[in-house]
Amino acid sequence: MYTNDIHGYFFPKKSKLTKETYEVGGMEYLSSYASILRSEFKNFIWLDGGDIFQGGFETKLSNGTLMTKYFNYENISASTIGNHEWDFGQNYLKDRLKESNFPYIVSNIFSTSMKSNKVFENQITYKIFNINEIKLGVIGVTTLYTKNTTKGDLHGIKIIEYEDIIKQYTKLLRNEFNVNAVILLFHGGLICKNNNKTKNILELKLWNVNNSNNYCDGYGELDIFLKNYFKDVNDNKNVSDESKIDLILSAHTHAPNHYFFNYLPVVANINNGKYFSVVYLSFDDDGKLNANDVNIESPIPVCSEVFSEVKQCDLKTLRNKYDFYGEMRKFSFHGITIEKNNFVQDEFIFFRNLTKQYENMKIIKIDSDLYTDKLKETPLGNFLADFMRNYTNSDVAIVNSGVCRSMWQKGMVNGKMVEDMFPFEDTITTVLMTGKELIKTLETIQTGSNQIFEVSNLIQFMDRKKKKLINVTFSDGSLIDENKEYKIAVTYFLLPNYGDEFNGIKSFYPHVKNLELHGDYTPIIFHHLQEMKEFNVKDYYNDKKLRMNFV
Ligand SMILES: [Zn+2]
Repeated sequence: MYTNDIHGYFFPKKSKLTKETYEVGGMEYLSSYASILRSEFKNFIWLDGGDIFQGGFETKLSNGTLMTKYFNYENISASTIGNHEWDFGQNYLKDRLKESNFPYIVSNIFSTSMKSNKVFENQITYKIFNINEIKLGVIGVTTLYTKNTTKGDLHGIKIIEYEDIIKQYTKLLRNEFNVNAVILLFHGGLICKNNNKTKNILELKLWNVNNSNNYCDGYGELDIFLKNYFKDVNDNKNVSDESKIDLILSAHTHAPNHYFFNYLPVVANINNGKYFSVVYLSFDDDGKLNANDVNIESPIPVCSEVFSEVKQCDLKTLRNKYDFYGEMRKFSFHGITIEKNNFVQDEFIFFRNLTKQYENMKIIKIDSDLYTDKLKETPLGNFLADFMRNYTNSDVAIVNSGVCRSMWQKGMVNGKMVEDMFPFEDTITTVLMTGKELIKTLETIQTGSNQIFEVSNLIQFMDRKKKKLINVTFSDGSLIDENKEYKIAVTYFLLPNYGDEFNGIKSFYPHVKNLELHGDYTPIIFHHLQEMKEFNVKDYYNDKKLRMNFV
């Protein structure tokens, strides 16, 4: 069983996207799946790909222990360290690792003295699982972009290139320990160029090398690794047997994936515990892995009910991909209907009560009513854009006001009001664009036809009649250099998903450059508002110096 990027989403979330109310995600449901698999297969292990405890409110309030306690409860086999595990500092990470009764397998995190790649207690470089006569060797590495994608302090820590390390440990496992298969936990993701061609990636079934024509022509961290590790992508023989990897469990980019790279199965799940996968490995009598007979059951939906036609519940993923989803029905997994595991619910009731308290928690005092307006800039929209730019240290930020779904009246805002304002799960991302691409992007999205995008560090002039952007500079009046590359902060929905008007930029910006994920939007905003204590409109809105001017 494989999970990744659960990001602290312990409790199911009520879906607000259809008329019917149902629950999406939630460890109370995930646990029921694990029970089914455990009773069905004696040879069951559960691996997790990292980014466990940073995210959902419930883990923020519990300092992340909610997820480690849950994984302890499930007795999972191992996890690895994702970039967001660092977000709250090294002591916090140390505590989470210490309280876990499962190991964190990662071999490219060193102390700067480079003496050891066992920085934390409970961080190990490999683990061998003895399952009857079969020995499974598991190794792990984490993203080289950790420092760009965590707010946490990496002082004294060095995360190093992993290709040689992977080879080294794979050889060790094969030559010294005679393992029957090597599994690589890779917290660093895939970014595929061919998203539209792999539409059936969301179809739940048993995928194997014979029926899967999915592939990933990508430029993400894992794609680059795969292309280097297997120099000639058409010839698996270039990798010596002793450095052969049999399964890659990937994470980090929050995109669903399952495909075979020259027989090498690669699996990744969508974030926030909404999906997981099961990989079935079979061995012949001499313990040789049957590469032809590796099956990936994916993506398995975690929810109270699924749409019967598509066996999924997360409309955010489904949107625009199918015309008809079917009726909502409870999901049957291996012949057993999925219900909440009530025992998990009872066991973690303390945390549930804790999250109820946050609803009344005083978060921030605002000096004026706040709302967004699709057709003009607002203090709230400007604040969001400024916040995203500062948080990610970007040159420019662009945000769709659609992320805000409520209004706040002057006075005190509480936790419930924050959640109502930002009900959607989205991730803050950054990409690189040349000045030319940035200008073309603004010209494409800022037509005013459906919405005005809120920005940070730009001054724009639009011809309202012609619905055309006629001029744009930086806030200080300086020009955008067409040839220079700028770092742009957006949300995952806009890029790399090309949502809303960003769909129109595909023609000249067909795939994102240097994508970085900076964490889950709502909890980060929540935390930031809490620290601000007071919101003064004048800090974000100046009618003498508007960011969008209509002429
Ligand atoms: Zn990550």
